[in-house]
Amino acid sequence: MTSPSSTGPVAHALIAHSVLIFFLLAAGGWLVLDFSRERERTVAEVSRLAMHKSQLVSALFGDTFIAADYVLRDMADHAELALAKKTALIDLTPLLEKKLASLPALTDLVLLDGHCRFVAVASIKSFLGKQSRQRFCSAASHQPGQNLHIQYMPAETSANGKPVVLISRVIATPQGHMQAAVMAVIELDFAQGWIEAFTVDAPDVLTIVDTEGVLIARNPPMPAELGKRTAAPPGQPPFEQIGTATTFTAHSPLDHSERIFGLSRLERFPFITLVGYDMQHSLEGWQQRARQFALGYAALALLSIGLLRAHLRTLAQSRALHTLATTDALTGIANRRHLFERGEQEVTRALRYGKPLSALMIDIDLFKTINDRWGHPSGDQVIRNIAELMPGVLRAVDACGRLGGEEFLAILPETDEEGASSLAERLRQAVEASEHVRADNGQVIRHTVSIGVAALAPGDTTFEALLRRADLALYRAKASGRNRVTKG
Ligand code: GH3
Ligand code: MG
Ligand code: MG
Repeated sequence: MTSPSSTGPVAHALIAHSVLIFFLLAAGGWLVLDFSRERERTVAEVSRLAMHKSQLVSALFGDTFIAADYVLRDMADHAELALAKKTALIDLTPLLEKKLASLPALTDLVLLDGHCRFVAVASIKSFLGKQSRQRFCSAASHQPGQNLHIQYMPAETSANGKPVVLISRVIATPQGHMQAAVMAVIELDFAQGWIEAFTVDAPDVLTIVDTEGVLIARNPPMPAELGKRTAAPPGQPPFEQIGTATTFTAHSPLDHSERIFGLSRLERFPFITLVGYDMQHSLEGWQQRARQFALGYAALALLSIGLLRAHLRTLAQSRALHTLATTDALTGIANRRHLFERGEQEVTRALRYGKPLSALMIDIDLFKTINDRWGHPSGDQVIRNIAELMPGVLRAVDACGRLGGEEFLAILPETDEEGASSLAERLRQAVEASEHVRADNGQVIRHTVSIGVAALAPGDTTFEALLRRADLALYRAKASGRNRVTKG
């Protein structure tokens, strides 16, 4: 049996909606992926920037020591000359004092003799005559000529309790014996003032630590932490194991802010420069763009879903309207209007393809009596019973419906009068045998139908013609005693 309602548009709408939702989800997924990639790119870019800046600061910091070495080299040349001329090294004191004044980062400049004793001192004269404990003093031999030595003394081991870098040039004989040495003392106090000359944005940080992790200088300043040892950032190897340059993101052990760090190690000196850019600050632009896109996407998704729902609602309404317009309210089967539409279609088809077509006009016998005896609601039940029995007897390709009152119609495509008659007879018998309808007292309300059968005859061009024939046959069935099938 064909249903009067149609599901085609709804199915199409559902497919279209699924496609739209798929694209929405795909676009959402792509956005998330793209933004996470952009975040990675931003972090990588900021990391590179941090590393380059740390290398630059490191090189500038190293310049102080290189400048000190220039001064030392000059002094060593003078000392060599004095040794050659066999003049006393102490005579070089005024020169030492002059050189000391030429470089602000220098704390002291001294000359040591071949036994590593202080023989000329520019600033702290109390050292005069004392023995140096520099590592090179205990070396068995040296390279002939000038040898450069760099020694870093953290605050705890240095004589004045401040972290100090000692840069020395040892003058050795061609046989490798130490003749004298010039030494520059650089107290790292200067580093804090030096680093504060750099401009650093509030949440960012510029730091110099030694390879033990002792804080030498920091911008913004943290005076309480200066000279104290800090742990390497979480997840990073200890400072002494860090290579020449690297980048990483970590929470600062000092102020716990998450930063993107660039790190570089000063060549020949045990100092590490760290440039930290605040993560939040670095990602501000990215976050703003991500927020804008997320909002735009959410608006688009909401709009699409709203439109989809409105469309589905409209479809459901039009479907409900279609059902109402084509369905009989009492029985739920096709109504007169739908039957006529279908009848016209089937007549056109039968004529075009030269196929047979039949119709059954069904009318309940003495229905007035049923209404009178059992009441109108029971009469309605009888009508519903016929509507329920018909689909069971007819084939899937057939159409059946209620014409009105207690009259029904079945349209049987590709069926001749013989086939239609036998179907009609089966339906008649099914109704006659039916015990489905019962009165309030449980008594079976027996009922029968008369059926007029008609087939499309040569010369018939309309559905009305077929109906008229079936109606006539029905009239004859009634006239000849009811509860029977009569052909047209
Ligand atoms: P016949 O065998 O000649 O067909 O006799 P009949 O009593 O069935 O005669 P008729 O066709 O004149 O009677 C139809 C009656 O059906 C008239 C009307 O009161 C009743 N009727 C029409 N529509 C409905 C309905 O929806 N429900 C009920 N219960 N009765 C209806
Ligand atoms: Mg009637
Ligand atoms: Mg009747």
